[in-house]
Amino acid sequence: MCGIFGVYGHPEASNLAYLGLHAQQHRGQESAGISASDGQRQRTWRGMGLVVDVFNQERLKHLPGRAAIGHVRYSTAGDSDLANAQPFAVRHGRGQLAVAHNGNLVNAAALRREMEQRGSIFTSTADTEVIVHLLARRQERRLVERVRAVIGEIRGAYSLVLLTERALVATRDPWGFRPLALGRLRRPDGGEAWVFASETSAFDLINATYVRPVRPGEIIVVDRNGLHSFEGLPAEQPHFCVFEHIYFARPDSMLGDSSVYESRDLLGRQLAREQPVSADIVIPVPDSGTTAALGFARESAIPFGMGLIRSHYVGRTFIEPQESIRHFGVRLKLAPVRHLIDGKRVCVVDDSLVRGTTSRKIVTMLRQAGAREVHLRISAPPTRHPCFYGIDTPSYEELIAAQKTPAEIAEYIGCDTLGYLSLEGMLGALGQRRGAFFCDACFSGEYPVAADPPTPARALRTAARR
Ligand code: 5GP
Ligand code: SF4
Ligand code: MG
Repeated sequence: MCGIFGVYGHPEASNLAYLGLHAQQHRGQESAGISASDGQRQRTWRGMGLVVDVFNQERLKHLPGRAAIGHVRYSTAGDSDLANAQPFAVRHGRGQLAVAHNGNLVNAAALRREMEQRGSIFTSTADTEVIVHLLARRQERRLVERVRAVIGEIRGAYSLVLLTERALVATRDPWGFRPLALGRLRRPDGGEAWVFASETSAFDLINATYVRPVRPGEIIVVDRNGLHSFEGLPAEQPHFCVFEHIYFARPDSMLGDSSVYESRDLLGRQLAREQPVSADIVIPVPDSGTTAALGFARESAIPFGMGLIRSHYVGRTFIEPQESIRHFGVRLKLAPVRHLIDGKRVCVVDDSLVRGTTSRKIVTMLRQAGAREVHLRISAPPTRHPCFYGIDTPSYEELIAAQKTPAEIAEYIGCDTLGYLSLEGMLGALGQRRGAFFCDACFSGEYPVAADPPTPARALRTAARR
C-alpha cells in the first residue's frame, strides 16, 4: 500500500506535495519522494524513511515549478531499498517522465520478462518501473493516447499520477481497487489549482476542496488548457478494496462518498450485534482498532476505555532484542493501563487479525495487568487469503486464519473468546451486497482479477529478486 499525491497550477507545488504526503504518511513509511516540473525541466528527490526525514526546506527549494507529484511507499512488489522509492523518474525519447503508483499489477512479472528478453534494462524490482518502460515506448502523438494504450497493457490494481514537463495525468484501474481523489485549491492570486491524492486527509491539510473520486478507467489530464477527463478503459464491475475502510485509510478521510470514521463505527456496531460479549470494559488496540471499538462499546452499552496506550515514538530503528527481553517488543508500542484493566472482564477490539502474533502478546499483557477475562473481537472477517492488489498480506502459511479454525486461533492467542465479523455483516454495515462494489478477496478468496501466472505481492517480489 502506498500514498500518492499530485498538484498542477500552483507556485508552491512541491511544498504542497510535501504536506499532501505528510497527511498520508500512514499509508507508507518506507520511502518518500517528490518530482516537480517547472514547464521546462523536471526534478526529483527520493529517500528512505519518513517524509519529515527525507525533505527539508532546502531540498524543497530545489524542486521548483507549478506542478508536482509525490509518493510514500509501503513495500509490496519489490524490495525495500532506494531503487524502489517513487516517483520513478526517467528521461526518454520524448523528454522527462515521473510516475507514482499505488497498487499492484498482476501481470508485471510477465511484462517485465518479455521486455528483458528484448533488451530492456530495469533499475529496480518494483512493478511500477514496467509502467514507465511501457509509456516510454509508445509512439502515439498525444499523451492521453499513450496513457490509454499503456493501461490497456497492464492489469491489476493501479491508481497513478504521472508528470511530464508540462502536464499532470491521473488514472485508476477499471475496477477501482485503490482510492484516488480529485480536489481543487484556490491559489493566492485567486486562480485555481487541481490536486489529486489517495486520501482526502491530504486535501484537508492544504485547504483544498474534495471534488470527487477519479472514476475507474478514467484518465484525467491537467495542463495549461485546464483539466480534461477522458475515457481510458471501460469501467468493470467495481471492486474497491474493503480493507481501506477496515484498516488502511485514516478515519478523517472520505473514500468516495463514505466517511472512513463512520464505516469503522458501523463495522464495530455490527460486530457487537453478531458477537456480543459480557464484559466490564471495551478497549481498542490503538490506533487502527479505536473507531470500531467505539462503535462496539456504544452498541453493546459497555463502558469504553483506552486500556492500551500507544507510544508514537517507537520509530523505525528497532533493535532485535535478545531472548531474555524479547517480550519488550510489543510493550514498546503498547502499554496496558492497569487501573482500567485489573480485575475486569475485558473486551479488546482490533480491526484485523493477520499473523496473530501481536494479538497473542496483547492478550498476555492484559492478563499480566490483571484482566479476569479477555475477549477478542475483530471488526473484519478472518483474513484467509493473500492480497494480489497492493497490500502485503503474508502467504497462506503465515496467515493464521488460513491455517487454523477460529477455536484454534483463540487457543493460540490465549483469549477466552474470539469473535470475527461475518462477510455479509461487514458488507451490509457498509451498505453493500457481495460482489456489488467491494473487493473482499482476502476474506472470500474470490479474486476479481486473476493473477496470471499467480503473483501475490510476495511471489512477485521473490521473482524479481531472482
Ligand atoms: P497480527 O494479527 O499479525 O499480529 O497483527 C494484527 C494487527 O496488524 C492489527 O492491529 C492490524 O491493525 C495490523 N495490520 C493489518 N494489516 C496490516 C498491514 O497490511 N500492515 C501492517 N503493518 N499492519 C497491519
Ligand atoms: Fe483489499 Fe483484500 Fe481485495 Fe487486497 S484482497 S484489494 S486487501 S479487499
Ligand atoms: Mg492495528
